[in-house]
Amino acid sequence: MREKVVEIRGLEKSFGDLDVLKDVNLELYKGENLVVLGKSGSGKSVLIKIMVGLLKQDSGSMNVLGREISTLKTKELNELRLRIGFSFQNSALYDSMTVRENMEFPLVRNVKNLSKKEITMKIEGLLDSVGLPQSINQMPSELSGGQKKRIGVARTLILEPEIMLYDEPTAGLDPITCGELNALINQVKDEYNTSSIVITHDLTCAKDTGDRVAVLLDGEFNAVGTFEEIFPNAEDPRIKSFYDYNF
Ligand code: ADP
Ligand code: MG
Repeated sequence: MREKVVEIRGLEKSFGDLDVLKDVNLELYKGENLVVLGKSGSGKSVLIKIMVGLLKQDSGSMNVLGREISTLKTKELNELRLRIGFSFQNSALYDSMTVRENMEFPLVRNVKNLSKKEITMKIEGLLDSVGLPQSINQMPSELSGGQKKRIGVARTLILEPEIMLYDEPTAGLDPITCGELNALINQVKDEYNTSSIVITHDLTCAKDTGDRVAVLLDGEFNAVGTFEEIFPNAEDPRIKSFYDYNF
């Protein structure tokens, strides 16, 4: 049996009259990229916010790295969050800091016993890994959109997370830059053996990065499997229209 790092059962979440998540069941296995596909407003971001304790479910369970999130005290939740890297939609680098300072920030705040030299080596290694070794002293304003995203991924990796959550990583990028970022997401999995959830409404991203794809429709995951299993022979008109629209 493959190890599960996330297990979600019967999860429900409403905001007033709006039932966003109705009966969500899903698992993330160790070392896999799981793509969550869904239309805008379908509840994808809400789902990962519950996963990191930024929102609380109304009912059902959300087990992450062996812990039931809704039962954790603040201190336990903060400890668990250090094992999860999340790059939120529109999450930005600090514009007034260099790339090095941006990357140092989470380390200095959370890991107390590293020397200056160890910190520099870590930063240089990760910048190499994301293909931007020369950017260490640059300001974010000197980088392209795609380069900023890469630095964002490198910054998230600096705490060596066991789980990576990417919320719409390719939103707003041109197709070539999307392709590069998808390759980086795959490289992160291979190099660091992380388990990742990649949230997107981009089918190319799903096809290129997903070991499995889960489609969120009307508050449930109606289809979960490999891209080829779900598309292109989908019979459900909602899934079919998704595919026809994108390809
Ligand atoms: P997406 O799939 O695009 O990421 P979201 O998960 O952000 O969608 O949102 C799903 C729905 O829940 C949307 O209709 C949104 O307006 C609503 N929603 C999200 N967060 C809140 C909140 N904190 N309060 C009220 N409504 C919310
Ligand atoms: Mg979202």
